[in-house]
Amino acid sequence: MNEIVEIAPLEEFGEAVAAPQCARAPVGLLAELTHRCPLQCPYCSNPLELERVNTELTTAEWQDVMRQAAELGILQIHLSGGEPTVRKDLEDIVEVAAKAGLYTNLITAGVTLTRDRLKKLKDLGLDHVQLSIQDVDEENAERISAYKGGLAKKRELGQWVREFDMPLTINAPIHRHNIKNLPRIIDFAVEMGAERLEVANIQYYAWALKNRAALMPTRAEFMKSAEIVEEAKERLKGILVFDFVVPDYYAKTPKPCMGGWGRGIMNITPSGKVLPCHAAETVPGLQFDNVRNRRLADIWLNGQAFEAYRGTSWMKEPCKSCPRAEIDFGGCRCQAMAFTGDAANTDPACKFSPYHAAFVATAERESAEANPPNFIYRRVGGASKTPE
Ligand code: SF4
Ligand code: SF4
Repeated sequence: MNEIVEIAPLEEFGEAVAAPQCARAPVGLLAELTHRCPLQCPYCSNPLELERVNTELTTAEWQDVMRQAAELGILQIHLSGGEPTVRKDLEDIVEVAAKAGLYTNLITAGVTLTRDRLKKLKDLGLDHVQLSIQDVDEENAERISAYKGGLAKKRELGQWVREFDMPLTINAPIHRHNIKNLPRIIDFAVEMGAERLEVANIQYYAWALKNRAALMPTRAEFMKSAEIVEEAKERLKGILVFDFVVPDYYAKTPKPCMGGWGRGIMNITPSGKVLPCHAAETVPGLQFDNVRNRRLADIWLNGQAFEAYRGTSWMKEPCKSCPRAEIDFGGCRCQAMAFTGDAANTDPACKFSPYHAAFVATAERESAEANPPNFIYRRVGGASKTPE
C-alpha cells in the first residue's frame, strides 16, 4: 500500500445501507488481477493455493468492479497480482478505472512491461507505479526470485517512469538474505528517482510463513536496519520518503492490520472473491462473497467476512478492555489464527498476549540458525518443497 488518504464519507447505497456496521467507505481496493507471475519470491503474499488462469474475472467483470468501486467511494485502486501486466487487457481496466475517477497504482515486479506499454498506460490514466525489488545484488536478486535478468529490467522500467514524469515507489521486502544491503537499496531508490521507498520487513503470512525459518533476520540485524533508515530519513529529507514496516516478531504492540478489519481496505482475488485482507482465507468460518453474484457495496457493508471482525465487539481480553483497542484493533486476525489457533485472540505480536514470549522466541531461534533451510519457491501447484 502507499499513500494514506483521508477516508471518504459513505455515499447512499439504497437498500445496501439497511444494516451498516461500518460508517465509512474503504479508501483502497487491492485488485489482484491474476496470480500468474514470472517470479517465484518465497515471501509472496498470494495464497499457497494460487488461483488458476481459467478462473480469472473477465475484462468486462473487472471493468464493472472499477465502476462499482468508484460508486462506493473508494479512492485508490492498487492493480496487483501476481504480476498484473501479464494480463493483456490491463489497458482496458486502467482506462475504465481512470475514467471512473479512481487513483490508479500499478504494483509490478517490472520485468514484463515495455516502454510503449507503459506510455500507453500513462496516456490512459495510470497515475502511479510501485516497483518491487528483491535486492540490488544481481546474483542474490536472481536467487531470491528464481528469475534471471530481473534487475536490469527494473532499472529500465525506473528510467521510463521518470521519462514519463510519473511518481515512483520502490517496494523492498527485507529479510535475512538482503538486510545487509539496505544502504545500497536506499541508494538504488535515489538513483531511480523514486519519491518513496517502502522498507518492508517481511510480514509472515502465506508463502512467507512457509519460509519463515529461511527469511527471519536477527533482532540485531533489524535494529541496525532501523538505525540506517533513521539516518537516511534525515539525510534524504525532501528527496525520498520512507515507509518502514517493523517486523511483528520484534514489535511490542501490533500494527492495525489493514487499518482495522473491514475498515479501510478491500481485496479482490483473481476469481472475484472479496476479502477483508489478502490472507483472510486462512481464517476458518468466514464466507467470502464474489463480485460475480453480489454488489461490492453490499459486500462491504453486509458481507459476513467483513462483519466478523469489524470494530471491537468481537474482542476478548486483553484487547477488550485495552485503551489501544481502537488504535490497533487487536492487530492481525490471520496472525492470531496462525500462531494461537483462534482468530479472535490478541495478535501474538502484542506484549500483552499470553503467546507473545513464544512468538518472540520463535523468531530468535529461527534467526540464530547458522544454516537456514532452503527456500520453498512460490509457484502454482502448492507449497511443495523445491530444491534451490
Ligand atoms: S512477491 Fe514475487 S512472486 Fe509474488 S507476485 Fe510479487 S513478484 Fe511475483
Ligand atoms: S491488548 Fe489488544 S488492543 Fe491492546 S495493545 Fe495488545 S493487541 Fe492492541
